[in-house]
Amino acid sequence: MAQTHDTSFDELFKAYPIPMWVYDLETLAFMAVNTAAIRHYGFSEAEFLALTIADLRPAAELPKLYANLKNAPRDTLEKSGTWRHRTKSGALIDVEISSHPLSFHGRACKFVLAHDVTDRVQAQRKIARLNRVYALLSGINSAIVRIRDRDALFKEACRLATMEGGFVTACIDMVEADGLHMHNDAHAGRVLPQHAPELDEHWIANRAVRERQVVACNDIESDAAMQPFHKHLHARGFRAAASFPLIVGARVIAVLTLVSGIPDVFDADELKVLNELAGDLSFALLFFDREEQLSYLAYYDAMTALPNRRLFQDRLTQLLHHGGTSMVAVVLINLDRFSQLNDTMGRHTGDALLVQIGERLGHGLPDGFNVARIGGDTFALTLDGLARGEEAGELLQRSVFGALDQPFQLDGQEVRISTRAGLALYPADGGDAETLFKHAEAALKNAKLSGERYLFYAPRMNAALAARMALEHALQTALEEGQFEMYYQPRVDLPSGRIVSAEALIRWNHPQLGVVGPVDFIALAEETGLIRPIGAWVIDAVCAQIERWRDGGSVLVPVAINLSAVQCVQTELLNIIASTMAAHGIGQELIEFELTETAVMNNPDEATRNLRALKALGVQLALDDFGTGYSSLAQLKRFPFDFVKIDRSFVSGVGSSADDGAIAAAIIAMAHSMGMKVVAEGVETQAQLDVMRTLQCDEIQGFLFSRPLPADQFDALVRSDKRL
Ligand code: C2E
Ligand code: MG
Ligand code: MG
Repeated sequence: MAQTHDTSFDELFKAYPIPMWVYDLETLAFMAVNTAAIRHYGFSEAEFLALTIADLRPAAELPKLYANLKNAPRDTLEKSGTWRHRTKSGALIDVEISSHPLSFHGRACKFVLAHDVTDRVQAQRKIARLNRVYALLSGINSAIVRIRDRDALFKEACRLATMEGGFVTACIDMVEADGLHMHNDAHAGRVLPQHAPELDEHWIANRAVRERQVVACNDIESDAAMQPFHKHLHARGFRAAASFPLIVGARVIAVLTLVSGIPDVFDADELKVLNELAGDLSFALLFFDREEQLSYLAYYDAMTALPNRRLFQDRLTQLLHHGGTSMVAVVLINLDRFSQLNDTMGRHTGDALLVQIGERLGHGLPDGFNVARIGGDTFALTLDGLARGEEAGELLQRSVFGALDQPFQLDGQEVRISTRAGLALYPADGGDAETLFKHAEAALKNAKLSGERYLFYAPRMNAALAARMALEHALQTALEEGQFEMYYQPRVDLPSGRIVSAEALIRWNHPQLGVVGPVDFIALAEETGLIRPIGAWVIDAVCAQIERWRDGGSVLVPVAINLSAVQCVQTELLNIIASTMAAHGIGQELIEFELTETAVMNNPDEATRNLRALKALGVQLALDDFGTGYSSLAQLKRFPFDFVKIDRSFVSGVGSSADDGAIAAAIIAMAHSMGMKVVAEGVETQAQLDVMRTLQCDEIQGFLFSRPLPADQFDALVRSDKRL
């Protein structure tokens, strides 16, 4: 047996394989170190002895060290937990410290055993991280099962990545059809700073799309490729980032980008799990896509079989991308009073109408119009290859309104509808489908409000509207500045040939245009409501005129005043009439009112009430322009009219057309049978007059006898007792 010499404690200390040292509790200086410590930390014995234990600690841990020293018990073995030490090379290691106070060379010292547990700690950290990532993966997989909507799934995936996965930011960007550009679809956590678009191609998400594989950066600070973003990212605590392409079929559909506050997190194990996660998301996308392809309804409207809003927008996007530089108009078309039609004729009739509209638009227009039903009673289409914006308006009028203005057959009835449209032009009104769509919607709303047939989004395109607004303004001024004047056209009794009454017809003495007739402004006045003050002015002007004639000793004849449909529904009207007549002292026998057939047929019940109330004032009532509407005389029996005025369009034909003669004859006979007198309007020739006489028409009005005249000329005519 070989002789062995007894190992001294000193030798044991030196040779023990775990780093050990003794340090002075007061100065913290190393008093002794063993070989393992020298080897492990890289300092020589002399270097160690020149250091204090504080020199081993990263600055961040010093406060903890000092607190520990102060509070530590002085006489027991102590496990003071895991600390971080810095070796001579600067590397950080995790050490588990056991220590015991002792007296060394007469000084209060501490004996320390520093067990390097770096590997264990890192493994634990990694396991904890991986656990989070696995939790994330399982959370996302359960979301995939649960959520049937792409956007909602992406949102949830981002939320999970920050909440479960511990990432500071997660976002998913959709790759656009060009395969290059992206737009953000979902986002959670801290907002990624906006960087300059010209840097986009360097951004990891863009690189992931191009390279069709994950691009990870484990240390933003030192990664040269991330240099352009460094300033934005590092300052916000973004330390590492990775982008995962989501690939369906051959196409990169989207990119998932994860940002971490911890450098080096994207190691091989973590990337493996995250790649799996991206794969699962891609699979879900594939699934959604399939489901959508199978589901026709995702892209088509079931009722009309036209594309729906989504397909319309998709196609529009394609068109804008591939259409080059030509101008494109997005047109939205809406029906007037569709809900009313649904109410009165029933939903199934409303549906049938939509189907017929769909057919006219879908089959009646060229394919390139990209017609769609985008919901309810709104249709959309595109007009492309336009040279000027105005062309869109012309095309719309000709092709679309041309088709929709033809009557529809519904429930065996002929039904006419009115439609309005809003237009937005690419590129002037927007560069993408969504914006153009939104702007066309706004234009449509304006068209509905203003009563225009169609309006462009950009007001400068709306020449018609501008003209209308100018006219409306001018009408207002005309009213305020007394530019209106009443003319009077005599009505002649056929048996006697004498003037028996007059029709009051408004004229506008326009300062620049001269005398303007009512056909040029009454319709607009009706639409804008200006007809009310104008109508009130007419009633007053006529009553004042009769008062002047009476005061001047003229021969008085009743005067007929035209009332528009808009005025009739005004309850104020009766008060205005009664009080105006009273103010001028005009008797009921001197006033007559003319209403058109359409005015009463629009709302027969209400018209009956209004007409009865008018009649109660004691005035006479005439049904104007008879024959131009769709009603029959029999239908008009319910209304208390004293006169029927046959429209000029029938009168002008009576000499030459057998049909017109027959119609006039029938009107006259029927009116007489119902106790009404008949006036023929617009008698211009002797031949027409002769026919009317033969048919026993009661009165005539027309250029043959006299044109409408200013008040004094009319007065002169009456005074002269001119006869037919
Ligand atoms: P209306 O009530 O049917 O008036 C008769 C129209 O026929 C008048 O046109 C008159 O000038 C025209 N006329 C009369 N005889 C002849 C003829 O022999 N040949 C031809 N070619 N035309 C003839 P005007 O004055 O241009 O008025 C047009 C319409 O404007 C009127 O049709 C009436 O509906 C409306 N209107 C006129 N004044 C007023 C008014 O004060 N208030 C309202 N609400 N409407 C008015
Ligand atoms: Mg009239
Ligand atoms: Mg008339």
